[in-house]
Amino acid sequence: MSDIIQLLPDHVANQIAAGEVVQRPASVVKELIENAIDAGATSIKLLIKDAGKSLIQVIDNGKGMSNTDARLSFERHATSKIKDAQDLFNLSTKGFRGEALASIAAIAHVELKTKQEDDELGTQIKIEGSKISSQEVISTSKGTSIAVKNLFFNIPARRNFLKSDTIETRHIIDEFQRVALSHPSIAFLLHHNGNEVYHLKESNLRKRIVSVFGAKMNEKLVPINETTDLIAINGFIAKPEFSKKKRGEQFFFVNDRFIKSSYLNHAVVSAFEGLLENGYHPSYFLYLTVPPSSIDINIHPTKTEIKFDNEKAIYAILRATVKHSLGQYNVAPLLDFNRDSNLDTPYQYSDKKTTSVPKITVDPNFNPFKTEQGNYQPKSTSFQKETSNWEALYTSTDTIEASNQEELFYQEQETETGKTFQIQKKYLLSSIKSGMVLIHQSLAHQRVLYEEFLESITVHEAMSQQLLFPVHISFSKTDTEMIQSMKADLENTGFLFESITEEAIVVKGIPTSITESQISLILEQLLDDMKLEVPETSFSHFDVMAKSFAKSLAIKTGTVLNSKEQETLVNDLFSCKEPSVSPFGKATFKTLTIKEIDAIFNSH
Ligand code: ADP
Ligand code: MG
Repeated sequence: MSDIIQLLPDHVANQIAAGEVVQRPASVVKELIENAIDAGATSIKLLIKDAGKSLIQVIDNGKGMSNTDARLSFERHATSKIKDAQDLFNLSTKGFRGEALASIAAIAHVELKTKQEDDELGTQIKIEGSKISSQEVISTSKGTSIAVKNLFFNIPARRNFLKSDTIETRHIIDEFQRVALSHPSIAFLLHHNGNEVYHLKESNLRKRIVSVFGAKMNEKLVPINETTDLIAINGFIAKPEFSKKKRGEQFFFVNDRFIKSSYLNHAVVSAFEGLLENGYHPSYFLYLTVPPSSIDINIHPTKTEIKFDNEKAIYAILRATVKHSLGQYNVAPLLDFNRDSNLDTPYQYSDKKTTSVPKITVDPNFNPFKTEQGNYQPKSTSFQKETSNWEALYTSTDTIEASNQEELFYQEQETETGKTFQIQKKYLLSSIKSGMVLIHQSLAHQRVLYEEFLESITVHEAMSQQLLFPVHISFSKTDTEMIQSMKADLENTGFLFESITEEAIVVKGIPTSITESQISLILEQLLDDMKLEVPETSFSHFDVMAKSFAKSLAIKTGTVLNSKEQETLVNDLFSCKEPSVSPFGKATFKTLTIKEIDAIFNSH
């Protein structure tokens, strides 16, 4: 039989390797920026178009490449960073595999310009699908610029697999933030579709964290510094009262490389033990320095996981160090979980992936609606509104045959009063002609608020209350951009903005249904929800917004409602278009007919 094994042509091998290295535009961003850092750049610019789908360009002022190296850099396993296997155990560079440029060039149109400091002229190389289409001598400044266009142009399946621009941009920003946070002494710039997203000057770590996450971050940070024989730990943790419902701001860097480690995360979280409310996650920016020979970063191709030689000892040191800082900065004794509960979001947001209603936290102290009048703010329009659904429920008596005068008499009385009872600060019970109805107060209120917001967003006639003193809230740049993009919709709900700048927003008017102290709560919840849901159409955009507001503002389980409030909530619910389900698809009420009630007793 003849031989059948062949060596794959280089461009095919590169394309296969690319599958591992380049999952999405953000992977290219990571590789190119890491190369720029390895080249000793002090200033790195990242230019993106269409979430990286049309263009990803990284321009650095690093050491550049010679003419020959420029060409070689696109060969597979071409690297200047290691010479033999021994070097693998002593890595000080980010790259070492020598496959990033080869992989990227296999699946995109790449244009490289590079020049070394002492050279008069530089090199330009254009390469498409692993084929060099031109190589020229050009005049260019010191450093390297690599432009990657039309990513996955020759792998349509991969291209189609890419997510929406919002999601891909989010991934790029995540990568960008990670490198920016691990190299505060390097200046970084990020432009997306010609707009400046980040302009980070050379600075120290604290300032870098603040410039990435917004001025509000500064007051939250508690420094961490510890040096032992095994490991040095530096960085910051956020005070426990600033812990978050999402894990967004958790960063570990090992030898200036971002890593993910549930093991180390556990060490930090356990140091916070007793200081965090259930479901909250501490924010941290921790920089671990260990001898390069004591870690193995080679276990994962995209290198966000590493293995430590002294895992257990590092866990213990990390935990003790974080505990120590929490104590030293007097963070622990100052804690007060009964602090302004308006800052807390009313729901646990445990499983973000599912669209079902999140679990309800039972927090009897939480009550965003506490006012002199009571706990439930009636919907402004509820009394004028036609209460058709409610009436239908009351009048669905046709099936009931009053067996005697007495029974009929009671029913009429009940219908007149529409008496409701609150059960376990959670349910409302009301008698109706056909029997009784049991209403979940929080889910019912979500439905009421959801329809109210949806209506005002889409119908564009929300009422706004002017604030006497405009409220300043600082946010990160990504967040203010997001608010800017939702500005028109937010205004339809009744928000009025005096200004939206990179670091802060100034609110001068709010919807009549919210109070001043709830502004940052509901905006933060909205930003979280928008990031998770990433609406694709403008309609679902409204929907996410209305759901988010409803979730933030709905009265909670554990809230006492007086009889007037109970009655109003019940009326509001049954004047909804879809009273029977919450915005997240849960049943808001259940009726029990007389027959069903009778059956309970007859069967026992
Ligand atoms: P690796 O980074 O693993 O070495 P790459 O494919 O990313 O592999 O890069 C190949 C080589 O090209 C690098 O080792 C380096 O010598 C050179 N190179 C890549 N990017 C740059 C850059 N921005 N500046 C200078 N040299 C670079
Ligand atoms: Mg590299």
